[in-house]
Amino acid sequence: MEAKLYSLPKLSYEYGELAPYMSEEQLRIHHSKHHQAYVNAANAILQRMDKARTENTDFDVKSTLKELSWNVGGHLLHSLFWENLAPPGRGGGTPGGELGEALAGEFGSFERFRKLFSQAAVSVEGSGWAALTYCRQTKRLILMQIEKHNVNVIPMFRILMVLDVFEHAYYIDYKNDRAKFVEAFWSIVDWDRVAKRFEDVTK
Ligand code: MN
Repeated sequence: MEAKLYSLPKLSYEYGELAPYMSEEQLRIHHSKHHQAYVNAANAILQRMDKARTENTDFDVKSTLKELSWNVGGHLLHSLFWENLAPPGRGGGTPGGELGEALAGEFGSFERFRKLFSQAAVSVEGSGWAALTYCRQTKRLILMQIEKHNVNVIPMFRILMVLDVFEHAYYIDYKNDRAKFVEAFWSIVDWDRVAKRFEDVTK
């Protein structure tokens, strides 16, 4: 049977194209080293579980599933992160259309949404993510502050946009200044992609 494994997604832009907000070196290392490491680790776990099945041996279920959650969470969040970024010019600005209206409706204004999302990102304890999500039951846009890749996640909320605030996301460009990185993020958000995800989950 063909192996069903994860793979590192290709970016829709070159490593240097998000500069000056995210440098070529920063993005290259983040994508080709950090993200790749989660892919490799997730696949190694799946293969270990496959081997245990084939050989009908036991494995430490609790620690394996915890490790799986960390690595698959990392892989999927990074994949989403690359998708919601675009070179400055195409990225940045403000969302229009239904997403723009929904953000203003839920948060009061786009500016207020941006402030709250930034606060969620800057105040993540340790390593984690800020996410804009959609709850299908209440039809609300709700912010999620994810610790690590998998803590504080509200199951079944659909994630529309994420921002990685692990130090590995910004240490080359901004040293320890997470707030400066979060501010730069707004210049490279691909609102068209976020709006498309919003359209997909609301239709
Ligand atoms: Mn990362």
